[in-house]
Order: sequence, then structure tokens, then C-alpha cells
Amino acid sequence: MERQIYTAEHEAFRDTVRTFLAKEVLPHYEQWERDGITSRAAWLAAGRQGLLGLAVDEEYGGGGNPDFRYSAVLGEEFARAGVSGLAVGLHNDIVGPYLTGLATEEQKRRWLPGFCSGETITAIAMTEPGAGSDLQGIRTTAEDKGDHFLLNGAKTFISNGILADLVVVAAKTTPEGGAHGLSLLVVERGAEGFERGRNLDKIGQKSQDTAELFFHDVRVPKENLLGERDGAFLHLMTNLAQERMAIAVAAITAAEHLVEITSTYVKEREAFGRPLSRLQHIRFEIAEMATECAVTRAFLDRCIADHAEGKLDAVHASMAKWWATELQKRTADRCLQLHGGYGYMNEYPVAKAFTDGRIQTIYGGTTEIMKEIIGRSLLG
Ligand SMILES: Cc1cc2nc3c(=O)[nH]c(=O)nc-3n(C[C@H](O)[C@H](O)[C@H](O)COP(=O)(O)OP(=O)(O)OC[C@H]3O[C@@H](n4cnc5c(N)ncnc54)[C@H](O)[C@@H]3O)c2cc1C
Repeated sequence: MERQIYTAEHEAFRDTVRTFLAKEVLPHYEQWERDGITSRAAWLAAGRQGLLGLAVDEEYGGGGNPDFRYSAVLGEEFARAGVSGLAVGLHNDIVGPYLTGLATEEQKRRWLPGFCSGETITAIAMTEPGAGSDLQGIRTTAEDKGDHFLLNGAKTFISNGILADLVVVAAKTTPEGGAHGLSLLVVERGAEGFERGRNLDKIGQKSQDTAELFFHDVRVPKENLLGERDGAFLHLMTNLAQERMAIAVAAITAAEHLVEITSTYVKEREAFGRPLSRLQHIRFEIAEMATECAVTRAFLDRCIADHAEGKLDAVHASMAKWWATELQKRTADRCLQLHGGYGYMNEYPVAKAFTDGRIQTIYGGTTEIMKEIIGRSLLG
């Protein structure tokens, strides 16, 4: 079906993203996968190409265009290319809104130019060893010391954790306040007492640096409080819809791409004297997966368009996230099966798609939490 949500400008932007991936990313990707990290040079190249800070005002060096469809195009092209390591989407769509939406004028001048040029790579640190789905379990504390907060605690599973120059950290400013005692603090590279742990050894997304972060008596100046004191929970809830959409966009695109490459494979691979694609079971597998993708795509495109107009609510973003990521997981498994033993070999894209994609139903809120949100909206 012809997609109807993009204009010629969006498609021109798609060409820019493809050129960037072909020139600046794909030639280095295998090396980054081996290294467990991408290069800062690629971030700077993304900045030069205008791929960072799409929604940031031009006066701070951004694209000046809050239309989410540009983010969706970028996410689609990264997903189609299988690029899970260079977390430009996390920087733009997940951390970006905290800075553009909550930062004061002085903070914007300090942080946004580097954010848009690629000199300042960002991360968001909510999860802790004892608190993932349930953020009320956060134990990191930020004690008010007059002109600064004293930050103590540990975070884990933080994407861009090694490369990040600026980390938005959720911490307790009012310990007895529960969910309403959390604030967001910006911790910058080099702050005394801020240490990074291991670059974590994951089953997929090898070139994405995911790390533990430690804070020992870090003095965070009051000027680095982001948004309202004790208001983090509300800020997080506001921005999670976009995070979930960004993940869902990557998920449906990855699923579509898996069906494409698997269709090609089964047409070429022969068994019992004819191509696999002539066997009814294989044809039904491809037909079912293509149909599931087409139905999901229609819903996702509607969500993208609604979000671009500021009309998407948290419930529909949750539906999009759980449905598209579970579809991606299921499709990756079925496509790997259709590749036989070759599907288990890392040199085949389907193998990488299988391991890279597995996290999608977990981060950004698990499938179970998405269902909780939807269920609560329906049943109270
Ligand atoms: C590669 C990677 C990158 C990540 N990047 C970041 C990042 O950049 N920043 C960040 O802050 N975090 C990040 N995370 C953390 C991620 O968001 C959490 O792992 C996720 O939210 C789940 O939390 P948890 O791991 O503590 O699992 P838990 O919360 O312990 O959940 C375990 C299981 O219990 C289920 N469960 C929990 N509560 C309920 C419930 N109420 N009802 C039903 N089932 C429930 C879950 O769905 C899950 O299946 C990342 C994680 C990974 C692996």
C-alpha cells in the first residue's frame, strides 16, 4: 500500500540519511561491532549532515523542525540498514525533548549547540540495578546543599553510557516523596565523582555502548536541574510516548526488512529440487508475515501522523510499542527459521536482526508494562 504520511521533503531527507549511512556508517560498522562502540567522528559527521537536533531551534544550531515525521524517516533508514549501534535516535528523540522542553534559556545556550554538532553526545539514566520497570524504586539521591545537589547512586544499562558527555539522571530530591520526589539532573563529563563502569557485554547491538554509571558525592550545580524540582515523574511520563514511538518505528521497519530479505533468500535456496519459495508452507509463512507487517504499518503510520500533530496519547503509543516490537521479535524468529542453519550464522543479516532486535520488547518499557498502561486506561 502506498504510504501517505510523507511529503517530497521527507523523501528528500530520506536520501540524505541513506547517503550518510552509506558514507559515514556502513564502511565502519563491522569494526564498531568488534570494538563494542561507535566513533565520535561518526557523531560529528551526523552533526555536519544536519541529522542531530532535528527539532531543536535553528538559533541553537538545530534543524528547527519539530515535525516527528523527519525523526521517523531517520529511524526507518537506520533500522533498514541494521544500524543499531549509533544511537542518534536516542539522542534526538529520547534525550532531545528533555533539553528542548525543560531547559532554561541559559541551559539551552550551554547544551544545545554541542548537542546539534555532535560534540556533545547524550544519554538518559533512569534504570538502576534495583529499579527498572518500577521507577519508584530509584535509590540514587540528590541531597540539597544550597548551591548544588550532592548526587550518590548507581545506574545501569545506560545507552551511550561510555560516549556520553551529558547525562540526564533521575534522582531522589525528596526521599519521602515517592514518585513525586524525583528530579532530573544533568551530569557532565568530567564531573568529579562521576565514573563509568563496564561497557556491558550484550547478546546484540554490539556497537552500542551500554554501560553502568556511578555517582560518588558528585556536586551537581543547581544550574543543572532540568525542569521542576520533584517533577521528574511527570516529565518522564510526558516524554515516554515519543520514546515508545521511536522504538515502534524501528520495530515495524525491521520486521518489513526481514520479510524482504527472507523472501529473496527462499527464492534462491533450493531443496527437494526446487526453490523453497515453491513450497506451500514457506509461501504461507511469507504471506502471513507480510500481512502482519502491512496491518501494523497502517496503524503505525496513523500514530506517526498523530504524533507529528501532537495528538498521540500515551495509551496509543504503548499499543504501538508493544505490538510492533512483539511483531519484530516474532518475525525475526520465523525468518531465521526459514534460513535454516545459515540463519544461525552471524554473517547473515537475519542472525544479527534476531539478536539486535530482541531488546526491543524490553527497553523503553516492557511489553508487560505497555499492557498495564493500556489495561489501566480501559479498566481503571
Ligand atoms: C540494551 C539496553 C539498553 C537500555 N538503555 C537504557 C537507557 O538508555 N536508559 C535507561 O534508563 N534504561 C535503559 N535500559 C533499561 C531498560 O529500560 C530496562 O531494562 C527495562 O525498563 C526493564 O527493567 P528491568 O530490566 O529492571 O526489568 P524488571 O523491571 O525487573 O522486569 C522483569 C520482568 O518483570 C516484568 N514486570 C515488571 N513489572 C511488571 C508488572 N507490573 N506487571 C507485569 N510484569 C512486570 C517485566 O515486564 C519483565 O518481563 C536499557 C536496557 C537494555 C538491556
